[in-house]
Amino acid sequence: MPERNLRLGVPSKGRLAEQAVALLQQAGLNFRRQERSLFARAREIPVDITFLRADDIPVLCAEGAIDMGITGSDLVAEHGVDVVTRLALGLGRCRLSLCVPEDRDFQSLQELDGCRVATSFPNLTAAFLRQHRADPHLVSITGSVEIMVALGVADAVVDLVETGSTLAANRLRILEDIGQYETVLIQSTSCRDTALADRIVRRLQGVVIARSYSLLEYNVARARLPEAEKITPGFHSPTVSSLEDCDWCAVRVMVRQSEVIQVMERLESIGATAILETAISNCRL
Ligand code: AMP
Repeated sequence: MPERNLRLGVPSKGRLAEQAVALLQQAGLNFRRQERSLFARAREIPVDITFLRADDIPVLCAEGAIDMGITGSDLVAEHGVDVVTRLALGLGRCRLSLCVPEDRDFQSLQELDGCRVATSFPNLTAAFLRQHRADPHLVSITGSVEIMVALGVADAVVDLVETGSTLAANRLRILEDIGQYETVLIQSTSCRDTALADRIVRRLQGVVIARSYSLLEYNVARARLPEAEKITPGFHSPTVSSLEDCDWCAVRVMVRQSEVIQVMERLESIGATAILETAISNCRL
């Protein structure tokens, strides 16, 4: 067996773990993790998966203990490490926000001077507060930040927000956003096999694009093709084929999933028919 398999760090638990494994499998990085084992070897590609805490992945990657890793860009920023971000994975989108109790009348960051702010992102928080010339006392903790106000430990918190339901449940509101983050694939500056790393990036990129686009097929009168092409310019350009009825043609094109419904309506309004959406499971563009 090759000695120098590429080492890829993947979160071992938490909200990211399952999604990261599903993404890797869809990209053809198949492996079986023995129960609670910290390692798994991928089939058919020389990659060893190491299951780690998402918080440790940026530092371990910067230190060269792993060649690549899947983690949050929030954690990369917090640790301030020197790694290369290769790809945003379209998962875990969130913002880091400074939140205050709903029933307190804080209007600006400066009003927090002398107050206590609890966070598990002390570096990002301190840099943000410095930049805004605010000077509260930081309380650095590792989890359950959202309950620190109710516990009387803090007057405000800095935490990740996705849907906002945790904030609402704890009667907190956002005073200021600090940054926006998502799940990323990172690479060590001392990666031992950059060609293989590029191959992994291409594989994951194929899945990330496939997940955010749909394939749309429709028939349209040739006379209206220029209008149709404006509505659906495609990733590069649409595929147009002839129909038996030479006044008509068939179009096949990639469309952003978030825009599909609107695009279908616009196509219908120019007389397109048989408009079909198909999910893409993988692609190389
Ligand atoms: P939500 O209630 O959907 O706003 O989610 C907020 C809770 O989930 C907080 O406890 C956050 O710390 C956590 N959270 C949200 N997004 C992420 C993320 N991308 N990575 C890690 N934790 C997150």
